[in-house]
Amino acid sequence: KQWVYAFAAGKADGNAAMKNLLGGKGANLAEMSSLGLPVPAGFTVTTEACVHYYQNDKTFPDGLDAQVKTALTNLEAVTGKGFGSVENPLLVSVRSGARASMPGMMDTVLNLGLNDQTVEGLAALTGDRRFALDCYRRFITMYSNVVLGVSHHGFEDILDDHKDRLGVTVDTDITAKDWERVIADYKAKVQADLGQDFPQDPQDQLWGAVKAVFGSWMNDRAKFYRKMHDIPEDWGTAVNIQSMVFGNMGDTSATGVAFTRNPSTGDNTLYGEFLLNAQGEDVVAGIRTPQTLTKKAREEMGERNPSMEEALPEVFAQFRSTVETLEKHYRDVQDVEFTVEQGKLFMLQTRNAKRTSRAALKIAVDMAKEGLITPQEALMRLDPGALDQLLHPMLDPKAERTLIARGLPASPGAACGKIVFTADDAVRLAAAGDDVILVRDETSPEDIHGMHAAKAIITARGGMTSHAAVVARGMGRPCVSGAGEMVISTERGEFSARGQTFRFGDIVTLDGSTGEVFKGSIRMIEPEFSDDFHQIMNWADEFRTLKVLTNAETPADARTAIGFGAEGIGLCRTEHMFFDEDRISAVREMILADDEAGRRKALAKILPMQKADFVELFKIMNGLPVTIRLLDPPLHEFLPHTPEDIKLVAEAAEVPEEKLLKRTKELSETNPMLGWRGCRLGITFPEIYEMQVTAIFEAACDVKAEGFDPQPDIMHPLVATKEEMAKLVAMTKAIAEGVLKARGAEVAYKVGTMIELPRAALLADKLAETAEFFSFGTNDLTQTTYGISRDDSGRFLNPYIEKGIFEKDPFVSLDPDGVGQLIDIARTKGRTTRPDIKLGICGEHGGDPASIAFCQKVGLDYVSCSPYRVPVARLAAAQAAI
Ligand code: ADP
Ligand code: MG
Ligand code: MG
Repeated sequence: KQWVYAFAAGKADGNAAMKNLLGGKGANLAEMSSLGLPVPAGFTVTTEACVHYYQNDKTFPDGLDAQVKTALTNLEAVTGKGFGSVENPLLVSVRSGARASMPGMMDTVLNLGLNDQTVEGLAALTGDRRFALDCYRRFITMYSNVVLGVSHHGFEDILDDHKDRLGVTVDTDITAKDWERVIADYKAKVQADLGQDFPQDPQDQLWGAVKAVFGSWMNDRAKFYRKMHDIPEDWGTAVNIQSMVFGNMGDTSATGVAFTRNPSTGDNTLYGEFLLNAQGEDVVAGIRTPQTLTKKAREEMGERNPSMEEALPEVFAQFRSTVETLEKHYRDVQDVEFTVEQGKLFMLQTRNAKRTSRAALKIAVDMAKEGLITPQEALMRLDPGALDQLLHPMLDPKAERTLIARGLPASPGAACGKIVFTADDAVRLAAAGDDVILVRDETSPEDIHGMHAAKAIITARGGMTSHAAVVARGMGRPCVSGAGEMVISTERGEFSARGQTFRFGDIVTLDGSTGEVFKGSIRMIEPEFSDDFHQIMNWADEFRTLKVLTNAETPADARTAIGFGAEGIGLCRTEHMFFDEDRISAVREMILADDEAGRRKALAKILPMQKADFVELFKIMNGLPVTIRLLDPPLHEFLPHTPEDIKLVAEAAEVPEEKLLKRTKELSETNPMLGWRGCRLGITFPEIYEMQVTAIFEAACDVKAEGFDPQPDIMHPLVATKEEMAKLVAMTKAIAEGVLKARGAEVAYKVGTMIELPRAALLADKLAETAEFFSFGTNDLTQTTYGISRDDSGRFLNPYIEKGIFEKDPFVSLDPDGVGQLIDIARTKGRTTRPDIKLGICGEHGGDPASIAFCQKVGLDYVSCSPYRVPVARLAAAQAAI
């Protein structure tokens, strides 16, 4: 079995399609090599070797040893260097790289192959002793930390002591002589901590590093990251062993990272950072302040230090054309790592760039317009869930504000919350229901759980490609990075800036689109939609076949939904109209009435108010269906429950308290969700539904007379039997025809039911004899299928998900196997009786992309979701259709 795949400029065993086997990094290194781009030669140990390692008690597979040996010999031949050779030492990096990119989560070791002898060889060969020692001290730190498990703090302390002693602040000012002393102290520390010397044999170093990279697949932060991004644990990581190139060989050498387009805004401009005379992670680690790539960016940011375009013009030109090639080749924005060794460019990594929702939208639209991708591909590239972010509030430009500090606009969006200074505090306060803002000097992979719990992140150090910035963008959290004027004390739990101090728990607001941090909470407003947003929605509408309706009962929600492109109301919950101040007393009067006559008297008071509600909705939804569900909840929900409330209501309703109490008791149920509710109310107290249907058709006639086109659909909830259905349909039609005839009007309408009980789904053919549409009420249908109360499931659902019994919360994402099967049955049976029966879904699932894909698959006509989800649903429906 082939465990090892080699790559060298101009050729490679692997290619970009082999991510599962070679990991993303390895597959793309192979692809770039084949494209003839300047990639340092190397080879990749497959993810299969890692899987084998974990399945076999952490042992390497047979044959790996020999294959690595051969690959290493070939690498020596290609580079003309020798692994362990003193005259011309080959140094390598040992890099992790899983299928899905997990930036910074796993480990990498650079400069491997150095020891007390080869470092001298490197010094002699390059004529630069300082450089050789710089590599060695980096190697000792990284290797000791990653492979030997020695904390890097110890090394940092040693280096800081030396810097203090020498009176220098940056690493680049440390001389060869002084590095020697640092290295001696480093080695002494390893000896002291481990009781053994720093390993000198390059072969031992290599296998130690390979083991460590495999091991890093199971470290806590990698595990957490996988959980957050639904990455399976059994994928494993590949290991890339690659000959080193050096960005730390003086001022014609450099290292950097770049995006082919701006990952925050999506603007089509090369974007990134670099450092002269530096290696590997120096850029992201925030050790020195990185410089810009382009002259234009430097000028925009008011930087003084030269851009790469100015400092290294020739290499820069080559670099720009290289990344353009990459973007065209991959047909997507690339996030690259590169190094310049004495004026020569090397590409070290490329991958499809992570981006903000805003950037994703702009990039997809731009690329489709540039002809690089098709509109369908543009649609498929967007995460419908992420689109949601763009629909969320931003700071009201007119609101008063006090600026506390300014940093970089690292991840857009506004947020407001209590400040905390550690990841653990963020998790703790968030769990208690607080909105928190995590404030750190800089973040590291150890903070990831806190970043996840926080509404937003602020850092005092680090650039646009710092850990905080990259992770925040990936998580969709607003972030301000590098707010250098903030002086943070994590111990005291406070920060100060511009002469003011803010303590743990104080409220701040930040705007990740401008990089500003403000005092207190600031009013937010609804966002405006960009042309790109409208373009994507137009494309989505072109390709989707599912209609998207909304769940709304108030005029405000209905208008919002229309603004978002809703094609009607799929669920108008009439009980929400019963709670309004002006009518709840009449509703209570109806419930408290002793007999039908008393109820009718009270209902007569409600009728004009209901009618007015429908008039407005019909006008807003002119020409679009309005699906009205008749009263659904048990009546006791409208009655007061606490002694104080009972007293107040009794007074207002002018009934004795005892009577109210008695009625409340009579109506109380052990199991209200399976009790006297839904159409059971309409069957037992027909006058209630009669009033509602009357109100609907009176309203329809009124607006029709005004020239509108009302399209009411009357929906009966919680139907279980054919007899219920027949009775309710007959009642509805009798009333409707009566009103229409009296008014001399014609209004087309349908009468149907929600399918929310398994029995209804199983007997859908019978229900369809009278029902003209089905709307799957999947909240209740999930509840009744699983026998899980949606109001009480919170306590055990999470443990169920953690134990892997449920993959997802079935109330969030439709269960395709069980609930979905019932939908499928109901669809088939319903259509047997009534081939043109209209079918839709109106549970929470109507706005969930995975559930929408299911609806497409079973051939429903529409989904209905809350107003803010409408754009998400339009996109998800298009994706399901493409
Ligand atoms: P990560 O996945 O955390 O980005 P990488 O394996 O990409 O880790 O490596 C970390 C850093 O080391 C990157 O900046 C990369 O460019 C640099 N690096 C890796 N391999 C080499 C090499 N062979 N020569 C020079 N620099 C390297
Ligand atoms: Mg990398
Ligand atoms: Mg229901």
